[in-house]
Amino acid sequence: MKNHLRASQIKMILMDVDGTLTDGNLWVMSNGEELKSYNVKDGAGILLAHLAGIKTGIITGKTSKSLQIRAQRLKISELHQGILDKKRTLTEIQQKHSLNLEKIAYIGDDLGDREVLQSVGFSGAVSDAHPLIKESTHFVSQFQGGKGAVREFIEFILDSQEKWPTVEANFKKLTL
Ligand SMILES: [Mg+2]
Repeated sequence: MKNHLRASQIKMILMDVDGTLTDGNLWVMSNGEELKSYNVKDGAGILLAHLAGIKTGIITGKTSKSLQIRAQRLKISELHQGILDKKRTLTEIQQKHSLNLEKIAYIGDDLGDREVLQSVGFSGAVSDAHPLIKESTHFVSQFQGGKGAVREFIEFILDSQEKWPTVEANFKKLTL
């Protein structure tokens, strides 16, 4: 099946965090707190998806207060932190929203994402993902994790749904 056809069916976009929404770097402070940076382009992409009526969610193995704040700001509807079995969380989200797997997209970077990537209707990898991830996903971004890969993945989906012109126009209005 062609990628545009797969992407045209997506109603929810799920994302990994470290190495996908971030470049994978962690700044470990002396008090044990971990700092990481997020990309504004990816954040805007998430807002664009919402404007198109597509829900978003995060499944990550780590836990951080800053991610909770960022997810709230971006109105990400599903935030799952400290998850070891991502596939199980995918099933929970799928059941909660009554969505077939064909209607869910996921983007990740490492082996912990593999099962989820193999399950969803449209799967994406960042350009610096593990080789096994890149070779088994439908879409490989030209950008690295934390450098706009998520934005490109979302825009591909919006483009496939022919929502891009409308959404882009609304986004301009929204940010003025
Ligand atoms: Mg990762």
